[in-house]
Amino acid sequence: MGCCSHSPKTSPKDCPVCKKKGMSVSCRTMLHHVISPENQSLPHDFFFFCGQSTCKVAYFSKQTNIFKHQLRVFQEHQEDMLCYCFGVSKKQFQQALKDGKAESIKDFILESTKKSLCTCEVRNPSGRCCWGEFLKMEEVYEKGVENHV
Ligand SMILES: [Zn+2]
Repeated sequence: MGCCSHSPKTSPKDCPVCKKKGMSVSCRTMLHHVISPENQSLPHDFFFFCGQSTCKVAYFSKQTNIFKHQLRVFQEHQEDMLCYCFGVSKKQFQQALKDGKAESIKDFILESTKKSLCTCEVRNPSGRCCWGEFLKMEEVYEKGVENHV
């Protein structure tokens, strides 16, 4: 067992800092996201990803925490991303929802995913497909619009 011997499928665990559920991540994902030299000395353990944007924890295991400032994407992007494969930020998608242009972004993501052109396991710090995040954000937006009519 341990790092590299499993794909993300362990049941979620609570983040030690924000206490929200974190999803398991594969070693492949972590190696691509944690900065050097920290990525060379990761303990052999099951790691989980904390997706709360307000939490400073990125990955956690029983033995250790990796913080968001220790991630390459954190240093690269100054804003919250939705799709790490094609660089769509949350702000961008929010604007597209307002402008009625969300469908074309979604079509592009869906098309690319179907053609296996996305690389979520490596590019997304959660190691998971971003598609669910698009739908969640759209749902929140639509609810907000309904409530303001
Ligand atoms: Zn957390």
